[in-house]
Amino acid sequence: MIPTPPPMGILQVALDVPIDSLFDYLDGGFDVAVGQRVVVPFGRRRQIGIVVGKSAVSEVPSAKLKAIETAFVDEPPLDPDTFALLRFCADYYQYPLGQALLASLPGRLRQTEPAVSRKQYAFRLSAVGLAADIEQLPRRKLIQRKLYAALLEHGVLHESALPEISASWRGAMQGLQESGWVEADEVLAGLSASVSAAVPPPPLNEDQTAALQRMQASEGFKAWLLHGITGSGKTEVYMQWLQQMLADNDGQALVLVPEINLTPQLEARFRSRLPHLPMVALHSNLGEAERLQNWRLAQSGIARIVVGTRLSVFTPLPRLRLVIVDEEHDGSYKQQDSMRYHARDVAMVRAQRAKVPIVLGSATPSLETWHNAQTGKYGLLTLQNRAVAKSQLPRIGCIDTNRVELQDGLSPALIEALRQRLERKEQSLLFINRRGYSPVLLCNACHWIASCTRCSSRLVVHLRQSRLRCHHCGHEQKIVRQCPSCGNADLHPTGHGTQRLEETLARLFPMARIQRVDRDSTRRKEALADILQAVHADEIDILVGTQMLAKGHDFPNLTLVGVVDTDSALFSPDFRAAERLFAQLMQVSGRAGRADKPGEVLIQTTFPEHNLFNALRKHDYVAYADSQLQERQLAQFPPYAFLALLRAEANQYSLVQDFLNDALVLARQLSEHVLTYDPVRPQMEKLKGMERAYLLMQGESRLQIQQLLRQLVPQLRAHPLASKLRWTVDVDPLEF
Ligand code: ADP
Ligand code: ZN
Ligand code: ZN
Repeated sequence: MIPTPPPMGILQVALDVPIDSLFDYLDGGFDVAVGQRVVVPFGRRRQIGIVVGKSAVSEVPSAKLKAIETAFVDEPPLDPDTFALLRFCADYYQYPLGQALLASLPGRLRQTEPAVSRKQYAFRLSAVGLAADIEQLPRRKLIQRKLYAALLEHGVLHESALPEISASWRGAMQGLQESGWVEADEVLAGLSASVSAAVPPPPLNEDQTAALQRMQASEGFKAWLLHGITGSGKTEVYMQWLQQMLADNDGQALVLVPEINLTPQLEARFRSRLPHLPMVALHSNLGEAERLQNWRLAQSGIARIVVGTRLSVFTPLPRLRLVIVDEEHDGSYKQQDSMRYHARDVAMVRAQRAKVPIVLGSATPSLETWHNAQTGKYGLLTLQNRAVAKSQLPRIGCIDTNRVELQDGLSPALIEALRQRLERKEQSLLFINRRGYSPVLLCNACHWIASCTRCSSRLVVHLRQSRLRCHHCGHEQKIVRQCPSCGNADLHPTGHGTQRLEETLARLFPMARIQRVDRDSTRRKEALADILQAVHADEIDILVGTQMLAKGHDFPNLTLVGVVDTDSALFSPDFRAAERLFAQLMQVSGRAGRADKPGEVLIQTTFPEHNLFNALRKHDYVAYADSQLQERQLAQFPPYAFLALLRAEANQYSLVQDFLNDALVLARQLSEHVLTYDPVRPQMEKLKGMERAYLLMQGESRLQIQQLLRQLVPQLRAHPLASKLRWTVDVDPLEF
């Protein structure tokens, strides 16, 4: 008699497909755990999926149910905490769960093949090898002789160091192993624990001590803001906190940094101070093999500290004890496509769920964070002064451009300052603030600015259509030719002539070595590092850039920072533009010059008395933040309101218009609390052939927005036009 096979169970599988539902499969007799990776047939293809639930029944008729092809039962499954965090984010950011889950994994785990991480080895001489003599090796075995000599000298050599000795080291090393001279140990690649003694920590100053003590006195979840200018010793506080939190247990820490080029420096400092705590880095510049390896070291609990960028906020950490978010104000924590999460906000949720403390560090906290520190939601820890008085803060001054004639955007005073630096063989940085640039209409005579009559936003000039448009509420009117306030007939959009700036500089200073730093010139992987190196090597006289140079660098010979075209940030329709400008200027002013060569920051503006500059001159973040918060409160902008954006684009504008108009009607029906504005066309109305527009939703609480989106988004997915255009939802958008 043939025994009947046991009935197969049903698996709910999340797949990397843009459909917000799970898929049922038969388990195929595999003993699969929740969180495990499986390969399933999907349409005509095979897909990798993650099991998110098991059940005995399915709504799919059994004749239609297919079985999984295989399950990677030897791999540790994704743990419930990480899974729950991703599920929360998929809900909050309105993104399909399957795509959110799979995108969080290293690339190798998104393939349908089993993910074996290649083992890595370290080599050392055996007793036989140690007792031997190099002359026993034949002269023609040159590489073997080199390897032998290197092993004698260094004791242990990691395989990653061996290509330096010879590109074909593998064969030679194998020969040495076969003759019994060399032994290999498997090592955990990527782990940077070392055997060297820890660099002893400096005694903390009064502010640092107070900060550390307060952090230690709390238990469970607690959010802190560590506020202090560059060089005030925040990193030192992180390191001593890590030491105290992790020294006598097996806990883990997550340290988020905004940019890849920040990780090596921070890593190096951590490693020399905390050599006994195995550390891995996780960022997109790692090779796939290394990324997988590091991720698994974190998942298995072997790595004690994970230093990573945005995406690493989703790394499984079974024994998470604390979270650090450095430079928490940095916009690169926000993912600008697929799931548009904000890693700082996700880190906060994660700490809360794990009941562990989190510290956000910054010299210029985001206004959201500052607000939370003011209302007492976060504990505020302040470092007042620089930890070491190696450099004084630079002098910050404004050049009033109301009174001078500009030469392609440059004032005589700034040109003179640049000339002096060239003469003294010092370096200058000219910063053009053109990010997210939208021209506004400004009267140079009386400082009137075209503003929206329906909301408090500035109107944006759309020259081609000869219209002024509100990017907040959608209001639109004709461009006025004459200032309604003083009658000045010479109204101009701000921001003229900056394109020619670099050429002008080249003409004014033909001998100067000028380097552009912007998205284009830094696109190549190593480009920014190369530029930084050239600055340090004094191979550049003038940097011209739309982006500030990397944080974490001191530029002792860079003594002048010139800032042009700031007015477009002061009165930008993007209400965060001024906040960004302030942070950038504080940042760079903390980096330029040193004690014997003090730095100077010169800002060209038609508004030298603006409170942003008044605060900046005094290096006074608090004054600035408080004035900004008042403005935000009056205008009902974040953090006093919560926003979500529905973006749509198609090759015909009529599609976009119809879709957004329907969405608008729906949204207004679905929520009486959330204010949904009329559709708006962004400054770049057409991008890569696509006509674009968006809809802004504004609520008093996250909950109001979430409740609306939860109903709205499924209805939009079912909309007849939904598949005919591209649309996305951006919750808590940073840029419009
Ligand atoms: P931040 O992270 O705020 O920019 P860092 O922690 O990097 O500041 O500190 C700036 C510099 O001051 C570093 O060179 C650091 O080694 C040094 N430093 C920080 N705290 C102390 C201290 N208590 N005693 C001596 N030096 C310190
Ligand atoms: Zn005027
Ligand atoms: Zn408006």
